Amino acid sequence: MRGRAAFISHSDCGRHDTGWGHPEHVGRLRAITRALRDDPALFSAIEHLEGRHATVAELELAHAADYIRQVRGVIENGGGRLDADTIVSDGSWDAATAGAGCALTAVDLSVAGEYPRSFSAVRPPGHHAVADRAMGFCLFGNVAVAAHYARQQHGLQRILIIDWDVHHGNGTQALVESEPDIHFVSMHQWPWYPGTGAREDRGPHDSVWNVPMPPGLSPDRYVAALEAGVDAATEGFVPDLILISAGFDSLAGDPLGGFTLELDHFDELTGSIVARAESWCGGRVVSVLEGGYTPERVGQACVRHLAALAVDRVS
Ligand SMILES: [Zn+2]
Repeated sequence: MRGRAAFISHSDCGRHDTGWGHPEHVGRLRAITRALRDDPALFSAIEHLEGRHATVAELELAHAADYIRQVRGVIENGGGRLDADTIVSDGSWDAATAGAGCALTAVDLSVAGEYPRSFSAVRPPGHHAVADRAMGFCLFGNVAVAAHYARQQHGLQRILIIDWDVHHGNGTQALVESEPDIHFVSMHQWPWYPGTGAREDRGPHDSVWNVPMPPGLSPDRYVAALEAGVDAATEGFVPDLILISAGFDSLAGDPLGGFTLELDHFDELTGSIVARAESWCGGRVVSVLEGGYTPERVGQACVRHLAALAVDRVS
């Protein structure tokens, strides 16, 4: 069956102006929309929805109030640099709250059963941001905020987060590892930015599964390693919701990574996660864009990812 997956976006995400010379530029989102329009069957099979803005109180589910104020202050003063590679412009507050807010809209729709599965095409990305610091193009931990929100707002207990961005989701780990009922699996290039994510780092409650991998392996090795990570993270743990940090810089040819995944592998990984979600939690999968710096290819990968989200694996 098709038609139960949603594509969630917000025009404000385009107002985070990093400049065209920055790899995380607004053209990334435009390429996703273009690729979707090039697939009329999929375009009409999915629901297109606008997300909302996250409130400050919602951001505080994962971030320090002082940090949130500081980010807002820099933006209101016209923008600038929050770290060596994280730039904000005067539209970045609206963009960042829309980015997190889309993930919250996705959780609401998933839990309500209206759209159990969705992909949110947002920027800035989120998985490097820690409680009190911006990092690696990320201001707020969109997926981490969504995980805490799902528990607090909707009373869900167990959340599984799967991060297939080529970089370690250090921010997500930092923002969820104190909660034993949020399991986090991150597969990432090693050693590589940001330098964290060793296999031995399991977090204080052994609720983190880091899967560090060298670059340049055959793509099947990455697929198998991530699947094994998800198997380990769900041994005796049945999640109520699966969140995906969908970074497409793990595609072959990305300028910021050395993994070798092709479009087919995102179809395969998504299908496997959907099948698991259907047996565990009513098919609930909330996927949120992270990195990915070859815009045309990222657009194509998003189309394959969304198409796989839109298919029910069991009847
Ligand atoms: Zn990345």
